[in-house]
Amino acid sequence: MNFLFGRLLSAIFALTVGGLIGWLAGRVFAAPWWGAWGGACIGLLLVNLRDALRSQALVNWLRGTQEGGAPRGGQMWGELAYRIERALQQRERALVTERQRLAQFLLAIEVSPNGVLLLDADEQISWCNSVAADHFGLNPVRDLGQRITNLVRAPAFVAYLQAGDYDEAVPVINHGRDLTLSVLVRPYGEGLRLILSNDVTERLRSEGMRRDFVANVSHEIRTPLTVLGGFVETMSNLPLTEPERKRVLTLMTLQTQRMQTLVADLLILAQLEGSPRPAVDQWVSVRGLFAQVETEIVALSKGRHLLGFKSEGCPDVLAEDGADCLLAGSETELLSAFTNLCSNAVRYTPEGGRIDVRWLRRPGGDGVFEVRDNGLGIAREHLPRLTERFYRVDGSRSRETGGTGLGLSIVKHVMQRHGGQLEVESEPGRGSCFRLVFPAARVRV
Ligand code: ADP
Repeated sequence: MNFLFGRLLSAIFALTVGGLIGWLAGRVFAAPWWGAWGGACIGLLLVNLRDALRSQALVNWLRGTQEGGAPRGGQMWGELAYRIERALQQRERALVTERQRLAQFLLAIEVSPNGVLLLDADEQISWCNSVAADHFGLNPVRDLGQRITNLVRAPAFVAYLQAGDYDEAVPVINHGRDLTLSVLVRPYGEGLRLILSNDVTERLRSEGMRRDFVANVSHEIRTPLTVLGGFVETMSNLPLTEPERKRVLTLMTLQTQRMQTLVADLLILAQLEGSPRPAVDQWVSVRGLFAQVETEIVALSKGRHLLGFKSEGCPDVLAEDGADCLLAGSETELLSAFTNLCSNAVRYTPEGGRIDVRWLRRPGGDGVFEVRDNGLGIAREHLPRLTERFYRVDGSRSRETGGTGLGLSIVKHVMQRHGGQLEVESEPGRGSCFRLVFPAARVRV
């Protein structure tokens, strides 16, 4: 709308009406033209005053919090107030949308499994997600605006940040949190930097374990191979008497058996790791397992130990006429775990010692296979490491008795696959008790 004409009209109107009233008033004092002139001026002044008041009201509203509508008065001022109000509302709406978009964007970075940290041109932290805060031990609110190198002092990190060569990620160790991070810097904008951190502790640990495992296997195989090689050389170079030849052959057989047992255990482990979990609807007779375990342990002990077999709780699976108990899982795997524990008890209990094998049900319904011996026992500090591959408390006794150092590792895997747990109690010189605890859901009467 064009307000020029309106403004002109209102000025003419103020001049005319003011002038007319002034002319009439001037006549009383015999000076009508002076009165007309004065009246016209007052009319114009009033129009200006009205405009000044309206513009002041609008300015006051703009200076304030802009709550409520803008003051509307007169056509032009009303239109002006309406336009300003609408422009402000549009800007506010755009701002809200932008803020929402930014919040969503930050939320997406926040849920990222990687740490994300933004640095300004002075290496000060502009923003970081909680993963980065956790990785670098920062407070995501308090530490904003702080120089990163004042807070993260790992030499590898500081050197990498300051070198400016960001082609590859670098490993950074956070000693305080026992973490190894892979940190990558990406420059952007003008001197700004984005830092991405990734927790590689577990990956490095498992890579280390794999390396150790290969080294251990090589070592375990190399020893009997070296011995065998020596015997082969002896046999081919020296003329042996019949008793000597027999002795050498017996020793060679022993070394071959050691390798065979090792390979067999390695294959079992590989199979346990590579095959799907045993079905939960495949039921194995505990009585049947017990019978096989008994045959095995009797053969291993060769009468050197006092053996006891017991079954407690409901039902007594060893009673001739009692009901059987069933375990859900794989018969081969369960048997392997049970016989490993029995074989250990026999091998680490000196002659004349006592070994008790029990099956019992705990009040909550859990099934327990227990092997207790009064043999060598194990010192407390070794207990947490027993299930590690190739971990031996007494290496020479383990090897002498045909151990591979993989038995309890196999047991642990079997129990994990059956949702159960391995419990160990032991005291040096007094004996050990190994328990395989199966959850109630896997035990059926
Ligand atoms: P190994 O083949 O050497 O017996 P295992 O994994 O079966 O390997 O056992 C790991 C180690 O735990 C053994 O080397 C042995 O020192 C210790 N151990 C296992 N069972 C017993 C036990 N019943 N009594 C004493 N020590 C045991």
